Amino acid sequence: MSEALVGRELGDLTTLLTSVGEQSFRARQLYHALYRQRVEVLESVSVLPSALRARLAQEFDTGLPAESERFTSSDGTVRYLLRLADGKTVEAVFIPERDRDTLCISSQVGCPVDCKFCLTALMGIERNLTAGEIVGQVLHLCRTHQLEPRTRPLNIVMMGMGEPLLNLDAAAAAIRLMADTAGLAIPLRRITVSTSGIIPKIEEFAQLSARPRLAVSLNASTQESREALMPITKKHTLAELMATCERFPLRPWERLTFEYVLLNGVNDSDEDARRVTGLLGKIKAKVNVIALNPGPGIPFEAPSEERVLAFQAIIQRGHPCFVRRPRGQDIFAACGQLKRTVL
Ligand code: SAH
Ligand code: SF4
Repeated sequence: MSEALVGRELGDLTTLLTSVGEQSFRARQLYHALYRQRVEVLESVSVLPSALRARLAQEFDTGLPAESERFTSSDGTVRYLLRLADGKTVEAVFIPERDRDTLCISSQVGCPVDCKFCLTALMGIERNLTAGEIVGQVLHLCRTHQLEPRTRPLNIVMMGMGEPLLNLDAAAAAIRLMADTAGLAIPLRRITVSTSGIIPKIEEFAQLSARPRLAVSLNASTQESREALMPITKKHTLAELMATCERFPLRPWERLTFEYVLLNGVNDSDEDARRVTGLLGKIKAKVNVIALNPGPGIPFEAPSEERVLAFQAIIQRGHPCFVRRPRGQDIFAACGQLKRTVL
């Protein structure tokens, strides 16, 4: 199997090319071709002399994912099933909005965190993605939809399959590549990593030099109920998670996002909402509530619209709170529905 070039940073490409006697500007040209022109195959890197291209092609390829399926929703959302070099597949979703677009991308094949309301959890974990496989999803969707992050806002959310903080090194490298102004140029403030609450990794993430935004999936208001929904809470307790969030070094323009999936009669009472406000306390927080996206094998129901609005109204007394509308539900592209399902 040839080695992948996508996923390598400029320093890495420079070492690679200078070690075979090329000058370092060739590495910059290759970097530009991969991340700014978003070439699909090495043969299209026409700025490089053909001898060098041929030489590279002997050992390397771009390593970009191949599109294996595409589902288009009636609301314009497009769900992709992308095939990796070893044949495994991950999902990525394109979500168009009026004045911006959002890409929801995966960080792992499957997920080892066993949340009881999430379809991805049913797969278990197969493996981590590499930095190239993470950024490759962005490159593929940008090319397909002709997205230009420099001229139209593009948000990236790591809310697809997997727990990004359990693959932090690759996620951080992919984020550096996405944010680099010489490449994709997606501002860090437009990139969000979502976590189920892996405490030591939140602390490590806080120290990244290229740090995007953080969203924490809260989903419950007591230790007991969070343990039942997200068993990882036994190891990383709710109290410790909130204390970690309080210490999280926010920048002046930034809020910490908390996500809360509402499950009918389970975590959606007025009491729950009041307890969430208590947990958030003085944190500069923003809350996104979303009604459960149901799925086969998920033993919960979505609450009524009135319940969702009542929950939001209580939270809103203390913190900004938004109701997230599911996108692409008809093609199983909505949150927590990502699994290798083929319709
Ligand atoms: N593993 C990370 C990121 C991927 S999950 C995390 O858990 O944060 C992204 C979001 O989808 C999380 O906030 C999660 O709580 C939510 N989610 C999972 N299953 C869902 C479902 N069935 N309906 C609605 N949201 C769901
Ligand atoms: Fe994994 Fe997130 Fe799904 Fe939990 S909600 S199983 S952490 S993908």
